[in-house]
Amino acid sequence: MELRIINDAFDFATTTMNICSSKTEEVINEIGREMETALDKISNAEHGVYCKAVFNKLKDSLLRIAPFHQMDDIQSDLDVPLSMYEKLLEKYFDPNISKAYRNFDIDPHTLNQIIANHFCRQGLFDVRDDFVSVVGETESAAAIMKSSFLELYQLLEAMKDKNLEPSLNWAATNADKLAQSESDIVWKLRSVEFMKIIQNGSAEEGLDYAQTYLTPFASTHMDEINELMVCLLWIGKLDQSPCGSLLSPSNWERLAEQLKKQFCNLLGQSYNSPLSVTVAAGIQVLPTILKVINTMVEKKQDWQSMNQLPVPVDLGRQFQFHSIFVCPVSKVQATEDNPPMLMSCGHVFCKQTILMMSRNGTKVFSCPYYPFDTIDSAQCRQLRF
Ligand SMILES: [Zn+2]
Repeated sequence: MELRIINDAFDFATTTMNICSSKTEEVINEIGREMETALDKISNAEHGVYCKAVFNKLKDSLLRIAPFHQMDDIQSDLDVPLSMYEKLLEKYFDPNISKAYRNFDIDPHTLNQIIANHFCRQGLFDVRDDFVSVVGETESAAAIMKSSFLELYQLLEAMKDKNLEPSLNWAATNADKLAQSESDIVWKLRSVEFMKIIQNGSAEEGLDYAQTYLTPFASTHMDEINELMVCLLWIGKLDQSPCGSLLSPSNWERLAEQLKKQFCNLLGQSYNSPLSVTVAAGIQVLPTILKVINTMVEKKQDWQSMNQLPVPVDLGRQFQFHSIFVCPVSKVQATEDNPPMLMSCGHVFCKQTILMMSRNGTKVFSCPYYPFDTIDSAQCRQLRF
């Protein structure tokens, strides 16, 4: 919404600027024409009296054109949309984001590791090495991550050249772990390789490959195998076949994403870089935080000492990685030691809250939401998300 308003203001400013530019050009051209006419007359003139008449006429013409007056008007026409655009930028893109800074202790070593690992995930290994050396980190802890992601990028580079051999080798080496995580990456690699073979080779080659490498998946991927077998009938004219979607280059891109996801999974790492996720979440929440801080400044409250945001911030499902429970009474997040407990009335509080309300389980108490419900802490049951 804000972006559309800013975009409209920008369009208005640029359109006005183009009109002003054309008007300015017209004025300059008109002056040029008058001067050229005057010069022509002067060069053809035979005596000074005539020259004086030409200069007088030129002076009258320039006064009529009034360039300075016209330029002032043009500039004022442009000032309005420019200042409007500037005000909108200031309103929606608060330039002073440092107000949201919180001075809290963070272990610089951990932070350096996070940044170094982020570079590894982007495949920026040179940048990562320079960073580690500049901040003086020891290589030992970070080296495992680097070597792992170096391997991943080698697989992805080979995949860009339509070479799946390295990825299949990696999958064979990690077959046990892949089976444990119920991964079907090997099937995906084999099916994409099958399509590559029949695009460039004969039906016999395709059939051989299918018998050797696809039949082991018959129990789990029979429908897809049937679909691939239909493609064998269209060799040489695959582009006219009903298998068109299997030829799309996007299948290779999807395969690369799936391999990356599977690789990170085996490493015990999230698919997205934790630093990217943190920055993306921060950018999303920043406008709300800046508004909160502005209000706090007006009320003379201290942002630095605040333990909890005074307003709820919904980051959307892409930032929800697992369910959490916050006790509606104590406002603390449930932990293993302080788990959520279901009460007989159907409401859920954290264990510590229930212990507090039941005086360590010695008394029944009333539900804060519906006081007619009497709760016996012995009957509360722990919930697991
Ligand atoms: Zn209740």
